[in-house]
Amino acid sequence: MTLAFDNTYARLPDHFYARLAPVPVAGPRLVKLNTALALSLGLDPTALDTPEGLAVFAGNQVPAGAEPLAMAYAGHQFGHFVPQLGDGRAILLGEITDPQGTRFDIHLKGSGRTPFSRGGDGRAWLGPVLREYVIGEAMHALGIPTTRALAVVTTGEPVYREATRPGAVLTRIARGHVRVGTFEYFAAREDHAALRRLADYVIARHDPALAEAEQPYLALLDAVIGRQADLIARWLGIGFIHGVMNTDNMSITGETIDYGPCAFMDTYHPETVYSSIDRHGRYAYANQPRIAQWNLVSLAQSLLPLLDEDPERALDIAQTAVDTFMPRFEQAYLAVFRAKLGLMDEQADDAEQIAGFLAALAADNADFTNSFRALGEVAAGNETRWSDGGAIAAWLPDWRARLARETASPAERAARMRRANPAVIPRNHRVEAALNAAVDGDHVPLDALLRVLASPWEMRPEHAPYTQPPQPHEVVQQTFCGT
Ligand code: AMP
Ligand code: MG
Repeated sequence: MTLAFDNTYARLPDHFYARLAPVPVAGPRLVKLNTALALSLGLDPTALDTPEGLAVFAGNQVPAGAEPLAMAYAGHQFGHFVPQLGDGRAILLGEITDPQGTRFDIHLKGSGRTPFSRGGDGRAWLGPVLREYVIGEAMHALGIPTTRALAVVTTGEPVYREATRPGAVLTRIARGHVRVGTFEYFAAREDHAALRRLADYVIARHDPALAEAEQPYLALLDAVIGRQADLIARWLGIGFIHGVMNTDNMSITGETIDYGPCAFMDTYHPETVYSSIDRHGRYAYANQPRIAQWNLVSLAQSLLPLLDEDPERALDIAQTAVDTFMPRFEQAYLAVFRAKLGLMDEQADDAEQIAGFLAALAADNADFTNSFRALGEVAAGNETRWSDGGAIAAWLPDWRARLARETASPAERAARMRRANPAVIPRNHRVEAALNAAVDGDHVPLDALLRVLASPWEMRPEHAPYTQPPQPHEVVQQTFCGT
């Protein structure tokens, strides 16, 4: 097994990270290998599915060319600044380049203690690790920028949480692991040289064209704002709730990262929260745009020394940049939801149409995913639900009147709506059931779930059971970060 590493992060100054190898484990076993991802990275899955591959995924062997390190970062957790977080249970092995020339980090999560572990054991357990695998694959199939898991191994060692659990390590693939919190780390130390180094690094790696901009650091801030505006709009479009949008969990690349207590909404309600640690609903479904903006203010603040020598001018520049977030988010949101509602043209009442349908969903306690999917069938003339009253039924004539003002045919519209409204999402009750079975050694439900989630826009017979909302006794009330 050879990986052509080219480790640019390890070329950055020493205080950006701590160099150390993952901590070996007693009894590694391969639980999952993501063959499709391996192939897309230009890796040979058969070479990964070997004792040597297992040793690498477990952290027992550092592959040739890797320069393992734990990244330093800070972060605002639930609004409170923590000047030092960092990879407390993760190791960046190094970077590889896929056949298209895109660079990816190979990162082990759950790989043992590091200088950033604070009180933690540096470990992860199988349930949350498989959860990250499943949700990452679902997000990818739904077209949402995301980190993905290449492999899951169990360690043969116990991990102590609320009970004794099987330890596991996730091999994560990401375009990068620089977070808003990485900038905050150096800003808090007033280490302006490091800030500049980090910004230059990110520009060179992710936004090379910006090096030619008149103000490259402002252009970088602007690019990150744009990526987040787009990402959050896409999250809302599939009913995704990240659950822990702390600044250390917001990637500069615009990928969804750090799947903890995240969840997909069943019944639509804008204030939906699942995370057990989010007691005040800070990271509720409809709060996510505001929180993204809040996080971007932290990023902008960290970049102030790079934006202008004059602090007041820097502040003005930063403020102007951050002020573009909401309008950009709203544009992206309109685009996502126009497609979901089958609105082919842009018209003045689009926002009203969207808000009207969502309000009707809330009033009827309707399922978010299934209602949008059904609306496409209503547009196609194949669906007669909502004919017996309720808020959605009352809203439909308005929508029909709007559609009548457009030229698209019902078939065209329905086809577009089927591409905008997934039939299948990783419903919490299904995910939990599959993970519980897998932790108990039965991988059949998990593999079946993964197969269906790989084609979320289709509605084949094997998809049908996964489109069902939970029965009252199946409703997942809370999700846990499982750290
Ligand atoms: P998270 O909530 O998983 O994004 O983690 C927040 C911070 O806590 C990061 O710095 C993690 O590296 C650290 N952390 C989480 N769990 C552990 C653990 N079991 N051991 C050490 N550090 C951890
Ligand atoms: Mg994190």
